Amino acid sequence: MTTVETEPATEGAGTAALLEVRDLHVEFGTRDGTTHAVNGVSYRVDAGETLAVLGESGSGKSVTAQAVMGILDIPPGRVTGGQVLFQGRDLLRMREEERRRLRGARMAMIFQDALSSLNPVLSVGFQLGEMFRVHQGASRKDAKARAIELMERVRIPAAAQRVADYPHQFSGGMRQRIMIAMALALEPDLIIADEPTTALDVTVQAQVMDLLAELQREYNMGLILITHDLGVVADVADRIAVMYAGRIVERAPVHDIYRAPAHPYTKGLLESIPRLDQKGQELFAIKGLPPNLAHIPPGCAFHPRCPLARDVCTSEEPPLHRVSGDGEGRYSACHFWRETLDG
Ligand code: SF4
Repeated sequence: MTTVETEPATEGAGTAALLEVRDLHVEFGTRDGTTHAVNGVSYRVDAGETLAVLGESGSGKSVTAQAVMGILDIPPGRVTGGQVLFQGRDLLRMREEERRRLRGARMAMIFQDALSSLNPVLSVGFQLGEMFRVHQGASRKDAKARAIELMERVRIPAAAQRVADYPHQFSGGMRQRIMIAMALALEPDLIIADEPTTALDVTVQAQVMDLLAELQREYNMGLILITHDLGVVADVADRIAVMYAGRIVERAPVHDIYRAPAHPYTKGLLESIPRLDQKGQELFAIKGLPPNLAHIPPGCAFHPRCPLARDVCTSEEPPLHRVSGDGEGRYSACHFWRETLDG
């Protein structure tokens, strides 16, 4: 086993990040005991960059995003440690009123389920226009004109005719475009998109993802893309952080991950992606289930499911090792990262 340099708080240390999450810890009080949802997560996102945060349900990826946005349900949730630096200021030490002003204006979130995120009894034009009325004091007429502009920007056909339509009158893909328009309205510096295409069919998924990537480049925003699907991030992400049981287990530039993953969990996720050249063959699935976060296994939390697990894995938690010195570097929380890379 080779142990190399362990992780710095985040890559690119020394330069100011748009967002830097440092050693974040989040817990939930439940009847089953304390759930350790986020256990020392660190990552950074720069302007114009896309970070994909990947993991199965319950890995802590969405809870981390909620803590960053300040929309965690408190109680039962609570942030028990760490920092969330946005443009150099720690959001966790900011007054709620100030954080509320930042949300929407400087940082925005796109959720998975547009139908439940939009108000069903208000037209989409009204809901888009409200961003300009509330945040910028725009008149109703001006707000409506800007709502139409935004709808055109996200390529809603016949936007001027559809501005008075209600959310249920749009298809799932169009509703998700409206959610993107709402997030973009005030030209924020950072967007967090939480499984933005999960509810859509594959073709629409690709269109929405392409649109999001195009707008992110055009507005030079930082984008955090939360997903359980490694298949959707290849063309849009710059870097990937893979989460398991509330920790980052691999962090690397996207091309490194696809070329040769350095953690058995990432490798399993990659092998689970359906491939056209394997038509008719049984799809690979990582065995077992993610752990109950109130009872995380000792040592490496992935050991009960890992094909490479050995004795040391059941007792010693692997730190996030730096496994490559190129560029921003890549990191793996596996005692046997070298074997995984070579395999
Ligand atoms: Fe598997 Fe051990 Fe690596 Fe964990 S530390 S991923 S159990 S080989």
